[in-house]
Amino acid sequence: MSNKEIDWSNLGFGYIKTDYRYVSRFKDGKWDDGAIITDSDIVLNECACVFQYAQTCFEGLKAYKTEDGRIVCFRPDLNAQRMADTAKRLVMPVFPEERFVDAVKQVVKANADFVPPYGTGATLYIRPYMMGINPVIGVKPAEEFEFRIFCTPVGPYFKGGAKPITIKVSDYDRAAPHGTGNIKAGLNYAMSLYPITVAHEEGFAENMYLDAATRTKVEETGGANFIFITKDGTLVTPKSDSILPSITRRSICYVAENILGMKVEHREVEFAEVKDFAECGLCGTAAVISPVGRIVDHGKEINFPAGMDEMGPVTKKLYETLTGIQQCKVEAPEGWIVEI
Ligand SMILES: *Cc1c(COP(=O)(O)O)cnc(C)c1O
Repeated sequence: MSNKEIDWSNLGFGYIKTDYRYVSRFKDGKWDDGAIITDSDIVLNECACVFQYAQTCFEGLKAYKTEDGRIVCFRPDLNAQRMADTAKRLVMPVFPEERFVDAVKQVVKANADFVPPYGTGATLYIRPYMMGINPVIGVKPAEEFEFRIFCTPVGPYFKGGAKPITIKVSDYDRAAPHGTGNIKAGLNYAMSLYPITVAHEEGFAENMYLDAATRTKVEETGGANFIFITKDGTLVTPKSDSILPSITRRSICYVAENILGMKVEHREVEFAEVKDFAECGLCGTAAVISPVGRIVDHGKEINFPAGMDEMGPVTKKLYETLTGIQQCKVEAPEGWIVEI
């Protein structure tokens, strides 16, 4: 598809092939120089470790068009760091953090025509990922890897844009076991495909996962962290070793505390206290901040006071400040905005 055919204002969250992607290979203990290429297909051996033992991980970030026509991205250094953490847990080599940021810039620059215009609500989603590519049949890590980045223009993650969604408390655990919930990898998403299919069939937009051990504490959804606002305006975010450390969530906490002067608590959140919060939202690169209007726990409903028509007032203030920073309308904390 050429960028001329894209209806920017009506994009959903889907894949559209863009012109260029970045690729670098790791062999004999080192990464090659990397290059921008045009071929979107990957051809691998049938026994590649990624196919047999799912040795693969990914990241996600966005590029934005500013009002004056520049292209920027948001905190790519933190994606580089997190991918390094994930890679270590999956016995994969770290793609050097400065090279990661440079590769993001190269891909976005090459696909500049696909960065949605300012004001359309759409953005360019950037997907770095890495996989083990040599044949492995005994269970062990690969020795050769491919690091890639592609990008695709996207609209809102949830249908209906900023309208509050209804979610359910899932009977399943979000992540694969053994403390892998805090890495960004397809293995955890594979485990979420069945529960999200069940939730969608029942008419829910997402799952709220509880902690696997006691099922009393709030973890996160399939791909976004929770934020809650108390009745006296404090931002509360769940703390757990088995949820993904969302860059959006960490940024929102910083903005709330340092720009909006709010009280912020990052702590364990009991499911039993959720009914007492004034507002609830999901946050992540894809979800941005999506308000949750209702949570259903086996037929019992929690309805947040802002209702199902609009975001609660505090969530809205956080949303406007965060997206304002990302589009350079609000002054960003040092180092958060990287110009392409
Ligand atoms: C990517 C992801 C998030 C959101 O993280 P951001 O850095 O804000 O995009 C939350 N939960 C899971 C499981 C994720 O994979």
